[in-house]
Amino acid sequence: MAGAMIGLEEQIKILGLIIDRKLTFNSHVKYICTKVLNIYKHLSRSAKINWGLRSEIIRTIYVSVIEPIVLYAASVWATAAQKLTIQKHLNAVQRGFAQKIIKSYRTVSLPAALALARLLPLDLRVQEAARLYRAKRGKQQDVLGDRLVETKKCFLDALHPAQEIGINYAKLEDISDPSVGKSDREGLQIFTDGSKIGGKVGAALVYWRDGIETGKKKFLLESYCSVYQAEMYALYRATDVAIKCKDKQINIYSDSKSSLETIQNLKSYHPLAFEIRQNLKKLKDKQKIIRLFWIRAHVGVEGNERADQLAKEAAITKKTAPDYDACPISFVKRHIRYETVKIWQHRYEITEKAAVTKSFFPTVEGANAILRRLTLTPALVQVFSGHGGFSEYLHRFKCKEGPGCVCDETVDESILHLLIDCPQHSRIREDLHQQIQIELCRGSIPAILESNASRKIFLEFCLKIARIVIERNRTR
Ligand SMILES: [Zn+2]
Repeated sequence: MAGAMIGLEEQIKILGLIIDRKLTFNSHVKYICTKVLNIYKHLSRSAKINWGLRSEIIRTIYVSVIEPIVLYAASVWATAAQKLTIQKHLNAVQRGFAQKIIKSYRTVSLPAALALARLLPLDLRVQEAARLYRAKRGKQQDVLGDRLVETKKCFLDALHPAQEIGINYAKLEDISDPSVGKSDREGLQIFTDGSKIGGKVGAALVYWRDGIETGKKKFLLESYCSVYQAEMYALYRATDVAIKCKDKQINIYSDSKSSLETIQNLKSYHPLAFEIRQNLKKLKDKQKIIRLFWIRAHVGVEGNERADQLAKEAAITKKTAPDYDACPISFVKRHIRYETVKIWQHRYEITEKAAVTKSFFPTVEGANAILRRLTLTPALVQVFSGHGGFSEYLHRFKCKEGPGCVCDETVDESILHLLIDCPQHSRIREDLHQQIQIELCRGSIPAILESNASRKIFLEFCLKIARIVIERNRTR
C-alpha cells in the first residue's frame, strides 16, 4: 500500500476477540483460559479447604466473573468449543473452580466436581450462550416449529424523540375511595387482566360506563406465553378499544405494575409496549384524554375481579386460534437449558469417572435438587466423592501402604464398603435402619437421599463413620 509491503498477520484482536488466520479460535480460547487461570491463582491463595473464602463466595465469583469472561462473544466461537482440544482447556479451567466451590481434594474428577458443585460443563454453557444469542436475534427455533420468538423492536422503529409523549401511570390503592376524585370515574373505564391457569393463558378486558358493565373482550394466548405477556396484550387491546370508541376520556386499569412500567420506560423495546405507545400517540393526536392506573390485585375491586375471571374463562374455554402467539424468550431459555442438562446427564452416565458420586447421585438433576438444599462440608464432600481419608484412596495416591480395611486386609477400605458392608460399623448401621426403616444397600442410597424423612439421618450416619475412619487413618 503506497509502495510499502503490508505483512501478513497470524491473528488480530478485534473488540476483545482474537481471530486467527484459519478461524480455529485456539488462540482466543488460550487467551481467555490464561486470563481466568490468573484469577484462579489469586483466588486459590485465600480459598483453602478448612479456611478462607466460603464456597458461596467462590460460586458468586465464578458465576459473575469467570463465566462472563469465558462466554464473551461465545456466539462467534461456539462451533470451535465442540472440538476436544478446546474442551480440554475449558475443562481444566472449570475443574479448579468446581473443586474450590465444593472444597474437595484436588484429585476429584471433573464430572464428580461439577455434579457436586452444581455447575454446568463450561463448553455446554458456551453452546447455550450461542443458541440464546441466535434466538434473541429472531432465528428460527426447532422447538417452536414455524412460530417465532418474541424479539425486541429496533430503536429505529420507535417514535422520533421529538414526537415522544410522556407516559405516566397513577397508583390507585382503592378505586372506590372517594378521595380518588370524580374525574377518574367519568368516561370509559377499561379493566384489563391476564391469567395463566392449568398451563393455558388468557387475557381479558371489561369496560364500564358510569359504574355499569357495557362490554367485554376475551383473548387466548399460546400456552407457552407468560402471564406478563397476557397482561401486556390486554393493555394493548384496551388501547385499541380506546381508539375506536366515541368517548373523549378513557381510563385504563391494570394490576400489573411491571407491564405499566415497561410501557412507561421509553428505552424498553418490548414489541407490545411499542404498539401500545403508538396507540397512545394516536389517541393524543385525536385529542382524547387517556390515563393509565395501577390497581392492587385481589383486593375486591369489582372491575378487576371481573377481568380476572374473564381472563381465566378465556384461558380455559376459548377454543379458537390464539390471538397472540409470540414465544417469550424465557420459554426458549428453559428449553435450551433442558437440552443442555440432557447432554450433561449423558456425559455423566457414560464417564468411567465419578463412580462413587454416581452411587449417591445417579442423575445430575437429582444431585442439583438435593445439594441445593444442603450445606456441603469438606467431610461430606469426602464421602460423596470417595476422595478422603479412606485407605483405598490413600493407597491409590501413595499415602498408605495397603488399601485394606481393618475388618479384613483383603477388602478395600472404600467409602461404600465402610457405609454398607464393613462389620466394624454394624451397630451404627443397625441404628440407622431402626430410624429410617429402609434397608441400606448400594441401590437404595439415592432413594434414601431423595426422601426428606431419611436424608438428614443418613448424612449424619455417613459423617459419623467418615469421622471415625479418617481419624483412625490419620493416627495409624
Ligand atoms: Zn471394613
